[in-house]
Amino acid sequence: MPTSDYQRVLNEITQEVKPLLTQGKVADYIPALAEVSPEQFSIAIYTTEGEIFCAGDCEQRFTIQSVSKVMTLTLALQRYGDELWNRVGKEPSGTAFNSLTQLEFEKGIPRNPFINAGAIVTCDALYSRLSAPMHSMLETFRDLSGNRSIVIDKQVANSEYEFRHRNAAMAHLMKSFGNFENEVDDVLWSYFNFCAIELNCIELAKAYNFLANKGIDYSSNKRVLSSRQNKQLNSLLFTSGLYDAAGDFGYRVGMPGKSGVSGTILAVLPNRFTVAVYSPGLNSFGNSVAGIAALELLSKKLDISIF
Ligand code: GLN
Repeated sequence: MPTSDYQRVLNEITQEVKPLLTQGKVADYIPALAEVSPEQFSIAIYTTEGEIFCAGDCEQRFTIQSVSKVMTLTLALQRYGDELWNRVGKEPSGTAFNSLTQLEFEKGIPRNPFINAGAIVTCDALYSRLSAPMHSMLETFRDLSGNRSIVIDKQVANSEYEFRHRNAAMAHLMKSFGNFENEVDDVLWSYFNFCAIELNCIELAKAYNFLANKGIDYSSNKRVLSSRQNKQLNSLLFTSGLYDAAGDFGYRVGMPGKSGVSGTILAVLPNRFTVAVYSPGLNSFGNSVAGIAALELLSKKLDISIF
């Protein structure tokens, strides 16, 4: 299907998911997210030719939450290469994003970089190599999305930090096994600030366009990851990006993806586009109900998948 049909398809999807907007439950583990209205929806495509298509509340920004873990991994791979895999695994977890149990059995090495423990240890590795991690991360999103006005929602970051006990428990457990280099609270503060970066769907799809473009950012023509690392990262997204629901997402959508508890999902169609969707109502796995449905409809209507 030519890209000229993308806009029509996104408009159709926006109408078709409307009945689902009341079905999920917004994240309530921190007050700042519990206050969000569930009936929001937006979806944006950024193609490898730099074309943008969007439907729904295209201007609406939201905190990207766990979708930030993809950039954390990207920045860590740039600095460590394969050495990073001594600290974090590559296998699907089969457990919830914030589960602690496997850490005990697997001697403080998290299963993959997208569950919280894995993202926090990746953040720790990054923290050791960056003098100002929050500034570097924000600048990376500003550069790649082409928007200097991007900021961190400090209310969300503070609230996450205040209620950090579960994530702190993971970090301390990893530290007890010798898999943590810095002060737990310092690393967690960076991690929560990364999660609290605010983007809209267009900015999110654009920031991650390199994932669909063999590791090269379209606008600046700069290499973000080597082509091999880009393949590896997309493969890990396919197997672990939606936690213990990665199998169902892969089955329904057929693309690598990453979800966040704010209700956003980013998906990648290599050599064609990145797509970002936002709708805050979540299912029991912490993934957006309307977001998954929208991406399933997109893959069906455009007859696309990585296979
Ligand atoms: N900030 C969230 C947390 O650490 C991110 C989790 C998510 O988006 N799945 O709990």
